[in-house]
Amino acid sequence: MFDSLIDRKPAEKRAGREVSRPRVSAAQLVRSRRDFLRAAAGVAAGTVFLGPSPRVHAQPVSKRRKVIVVTFGGGARDQETFSPEGQENIPHMLTELAPQSSFFTHVSNQGILGHYVATASLATGVYETLNNFAAVPPDHPTVFEYFRKDLRRPSSDAWVVAPSNGFNRIGESDCRNYGGGLGARVVLPKHLLSAAGAGSADYAHLLRDNYESPLYAPQLAGGEFELQQLETILKLSVDDFKAHAMTLSSPDELSVYIARRLMQQESPSLLWITLHDMDVAHSGAYSLYIEGIQRTDRLCAELWKAVQADPEYAGNTTMLVLPDFGRDADEDAGGNGFQHHRTGDVASRTTWMMALGSGVRQGVVHDRQVQSIDVVPTLGAMLGFSPAQSQGKAIPELL
Ligand SMILES: [Zn+2]
Repeated sequence: MFDSLIDRKPAEKRAGREVSRPRVSAAQLVRSRRDFLRAAAGVAAGTVFLGPSPRVHAQPVSKRRKVIVVTFGGGARDQETFSPEGQENIPHMLTELAPQSSFFTHVSNQGILGHYVATASLATGVYETLNNFAAVPPDHPTVFEYFRKDLRRPSSDAWVVAPSNGFNRIGESDCRNYGGGLGARVVLPKHLLSAAGAGSADYAHLLRDNYESPLYAPQLAGGEFELQQLETILKLSVDDFKAHAMTLSSPDELSVYIARRLMQQESPSLLWITLHDMDVAHSGAYSLYIEGIQRTDRLCAELWKAVQADPEYAGNTTMLVLPDFGRDADEDAGGNGFQHHRTGDVASRTTWMMALGSGVRQGVVHDRQVQSIDVVPTLGAMLGFSPAQSQGKAIPELL
C-alpha cells in the first residue's frame, strides 16, 4: 500500500513517463505512519502499550509544569521521514523520542498553508486568515496571552524563538481584553545576529530570512528582542554571540542555541520554538532539504537532552513536536513534489505530532484525527488556563 507512495520519484516526471496512480488518502498516510513507527521504534498502537504498564511521567509536586512547543516551518513528507527509505533521516526521533512519546499520526491542518499564518493558527487555536506575508498580529488571542493573563505570569515566563522577521508579531494579538503587553516576548535570532553587526559573508548561511519570497523583508516594529538584551537577559556579550554563531551551521542551530540560553537564564514555563531549515526545499535542492530534516531531527533530540539536564525543566516539562503542515505529494499535477506546499492536497495537510515528558504516556500511537487548532486548548488543560476564543478541542489522550 505504502510502496505505491514511496516509489513516486520526481525523476519519473522529468523522464516524461506519466504514471497514473491513485492519490494517497489521509487514512493511508495514518496507517503507514503507525506501521512504520511500530516496526522502527517499537511503539504500540491505540491503547496497547509497550511493556507491562504504561509509564506516565509524574510531575514532581514541588515544581511547576513547563511546556516547550517545537514546530517546523515547512514539514517533511513521509517519504523522507517515516517510510522505510526515509527513516535514516530521523534516527533520533524514531529511536530516542518516539518510544518516549504519545504519537499522533493524523494531525489535520485545514487552514492556509503559509508558515506565518499556520504557526499563528497553531498559537491561537483558530485558523487565522491573516496575510502570510504581512507583519501583522494574529486576529485572535495567542496561547501566550491566555497563559499570562489567566495565570498572572510575568513576561519572562513566555517566550517565542522564531525563524524570520515576519514572525515578530506572533507573540501577541491586538484583541480587546488581551494583547497590550500580555503576550510572549519574541526573539528573532537572525535579527539579533544582523543587529550585532554580523553582516559579512561569514554569516550569510545564518541570515537568510525565509525560503519562499526573496522580496519579503518586513520592517520590524513592536516587541522584538532588543540587542542590548543579549547581555542583560541571555548574558552574552555581542562579541561572544558573534563568535559562537560562526561555529553554527544553520539558522535552526542558532535558534536552538538561543532557546537554550533562554532556558538557562529565564527558565520560561512556556517556550515556543519554530524551526525552518527544511523549508530550503523551496529552492528545489533535494539534498539541502534532506540535510534540513536530519538537522531538525538532531536538534529536537538535543533540546530534549537539555531539558533532562536542566534542574528547572527535568521531570516537569512536556514537549510537543509538530510540523505546521506537510509538503505536496509527487503525483499531484498542481505541485512540484517535495519542493512546495501549494496544492492543498492530502499530503500537505496531513501531518503528525509527538508529545513527550511530564504527564504523557510513553510508547503509544493514536490514529484518531486531531487538528492543528487543538494544540492551544490542550495546553490550556495542561497548564490551567482558559483558551476562551480557541475553536479547537483539548486532546484527551494528553490529559
Ligand atoms: Zn515553505
